[in-house]
Amino acid sequence: MNELEIIDITKDYGQARVLHPVSLSVERGEFVTILGPSGCGKSTLLRILMGIGEASGGEIHLAGKRIDHLPPEARDIAMVFQSYALFPHMSVAKNLGFGLKMKKVPKDERARRIDHVLDICNLRGLMDRLPRQLSGGQQQRVALARAVVMQPSLLLFDEPLSNLDAKLRDSLRHDLVALHRRIGATSLYVTHDQAEAMAMSDRIVVMNAGRIVEIGTPLELYRAPKQVFTANFLGQTNLLAVTASGKEARLPWGQVVALDRLAAGAVQVSVRPENIFIDSDPAGAAIVTSVAFMGPTIFYTAEIGSISVKISQSGGAEPLPTGARASLRFQGPVHLLENRLAEEAA
Ligand code: ADP
Ligand code: MG
Repeated sequence: MNELEIIDITKDYGQARVLHPVSLSVERGEFVTILGPSGCGKSTLLRILMGIGEASGGEIHLAGKRIDHLPPEARDIAMVFQSYALFPHMSVAKNLGFGLKMKKVPKDERARRIDHVLDICNLRGLMDRLPRQLSGGQQQRVALARAVVMQPSLLLFDEPLSNLDAKLRDSLRHDLVALHRRIGATSLYVTHDQAEAMAMSDRIVVMNAGRIVEIGTPLELYRAPKQVFTANFLGQTNLLAVTASGKEARLPWGQVVALDRLAAGAVQVSVRPENIFIDSDPAGAAIVTSVAFMGPTIFYTAEIGSISVKISQSGGAEPLPTGARASLRFQGPVHLLENRLAEEAA
């Protein structure tokens, strides 16, 4: 059953449309990430869901009830912000209890819920501290606990890890995934970080310029993207312009590959660097133009005429030198790409 239904939500600032009709369903217990570059409308959408921003049109339904006309406190949604947004003059315990008190949750139940959340967010021992007496990571764990303690129908996260350093970000990301597994709350998580989205999500919603570009599981979107934008934004890829005839196309190095569907004429395909194999070959079509040895992986760029191709190779082979002639071989499925963004903007 769908817990959250977003139906044709739009947002205009004067003449500028920052959200084109956005529709999205999230199932109960699902962890869905909205992934897109800075400025694409992620925070605008979350703020509209939370009720702290107003939509220009559309509807929001949560747990079978229309909520877009309700004030934030009546929506049964909690949000975790990038900036933590803790109450600075309240202790950790008071920060955690504030929302429950507002909701008139009885005192003994309040104590029980706070006690539980201190455990699952690993905050025991910090109860009496003020926010300024905590590290960034600890503050974000308090912000997380303050949202979780409300036991909302929907948890929203707006780039909650992006103010933390890389190591802390990794560790808090693991904590978040473990927490979600434990409490199973329906979650909508916003990030511009594709690695974060891939590692955490049941499904990813790729967004750009106020539009949903494509939705799928991390595996689907990485292995078989349908849109140019998705192929480019998730991981590294080579976007190659090829000529299709029927179900075949010829890659720049002469290899004929099978396409996943029929096409004719000029098309674009995405070829991941790790699906291209490079071999030293005096008669090869490619010339190695750069080599970066990164331990488990060697990154190459190679040129075939005017086309530059990225290749990544793992498995401990001896690196080829710059300037070497090589042959390339692609192994894997070739997916035709569409460019919906360009079509819709036209
Ligand atoms: P994201 O969270 O994906 O980085 P935002 O939702 O914050 O993006 O912003 C989406 C777009 O809306 C941006 O182009 C931004 O400049 C614009 N925007 C945000 N707030 C306002 C505002 N108050 N007035 C006009 N434009 C705004
Ligand atoms: Mg934002």
